[in-house]
Amino acid sequence: MDFAAGAEAEALRAEVRAFVREHLTADVLGRVAATGDYHDREFHAALAGRGWVGAHWHVEDGGRGWDRAMTDIIYEELASAGAPTEGLAITQIVGEAVRRVGTAEQRRRLLPPICRGELLLALGYTEPGSGSDLASVRTRAARDGAGWVISGQKIFTTLAGKADHVFLLARTDPDAPKHAGLTLFLVPTAAEGFSVAPIFTLSGQRTNVTYYSDVRVGDEARVGAEGQGWEIVNVALAFERGGEFAAQLRRLVTAAATWGRGRDAGAGFHARLGRAAASAEVARLLGVQASWSRSSAAAGAVEGTMAKVYGTEALLRESRALLDATGVEGLLNRGAAGAAAAGELQHLYRESQIATIYGGTSEVLLTLIAQQRLGLPRGRRSTGA
Ligand SMILES: Cc1cc2nc3c(=O)[nH]c(=O)nc-3n(C[C@H](O)[C@H](O)[C@H](O)COP(=O)(O)OP(=O)(O)OC[C@H]3O[C@@H](n4cnc5c(N)ncnc54)[C@H](O)[C@@H]3O)c2cc1C
Repeated sequence: MDFAAGAEAEALRAEVRAFVREHLTADVLGRVAATGDYHDREFHAALAGRGWVGAHWHVEDGGRGWDRAMTDIIYEELASAGAPTEGLAITQIVGEAVRRVGTAEQRRRLLPPICRGELLLALGYTEPGSGSDLASVRTRAARDGAGWVISGQKIFTTLAGKADHVFLLARTDPDAPKHAGLTLFLVPTAAEGFSVAPIFTLSGQRTNVTYYSDVRVGDEARVGAEGQGWEIVNVALAFERGGEFAAQLRRLVTAAATWGRGRDAGAGFHARLGRAAASAEVARLLGVQASWSRSSAAAGAVEGTMAKVYGTEALLRESRALLDATGVEGLLNRGAAGAAAAGELQHLYRESQIATIYGGTSEVLLTLIAQQRLGLPRGRRSTGA
């Protein structure tokens, strides 16, 4: 077994690092901090200009036909440098669903603009009262002539204030069993009746409540067949749950190591740092496996679920341990004078709390692993978004 990445991968890694040095400017970081949106139009456009959005998609879909492992390198380098990657990640998740179940017309209309960085998409699954129990969503899409009328409310629709469309899970058949009556739509945020209000998390990230008040869309907005929503959401979730948090762990370890090098931090700190570095490596390897399983017909989504749970729980555990070791200066915010590790450890600690919730909470995902990997019977069905 060869764990070496290969010359092509290393060259790409170096190229992305150079890109980060050039494009991840104080202005970009300032805009992200000011808005709370982990997406920046200018930065994203520069990424797309390099051909790095959807690079693993087919050439006819606007991609470059690259191996998925190459786009993972791009993501890893960007995220571990603290670049805004949420728009890239979420838009590609929806793109993966469109690639699999979209019509030829939808693929032509949506995928090349995604790759050119012209289209930003948000995920609209969760509702107040329907998060882990996602199949209970109540947002309604009713037939209206040749199109649909959508009414309801979503919560935690991240990036909806900037996105062009929301990938919306709606109930189209209220009489069908709850998992069977769901359908997905790409709802334009410019449509009449759509509105958005911000929610800020404890790390300052912005997510949103979105409202759909008799929003009319044509049938071309439907993604997949009527009633196929549950199946498609589960495909999309397989692309949402993976090894992305390994990059945050790497960021944590780098920040803590830089802090530790500048002082006599003591053996206790070294031990915590060593453990965090080992956790980061485990998370990275689980991520590689998850990514492989996404592109392999033989494997299921459980590898991604494991990588997500492990990565987020390790980020929570290791950021807390390292933060404790930096003393009171560790609690100072990013930008504050005297903040230990420039405030990165406390920021990542706050982010880690949230990371164990979105994309499915740890409790729910652990149950899924027991069912999917170890064959335990299903209880109450749930996926989490
Ligand atoms: C910052 C952020 C961004 C998000 N972005 C998006 C987004 O872009 N799009 C989107 O659609 N959603 C998004 N979400 C929503 C996220 O996926 C949900 O918050 C998550 O699935 C949990 O749902 P909930 O909040 O309704 O909590 P609940 O489902 O109400 O869970 C509450 C608690 O009960 C536990 N619990 C629930 N069911 C079970 C069970 N069966 N077994 C054991 N424990 C259980 C949970 O683990 C949790 O601790 C985001 C959330 C956050 C915090």
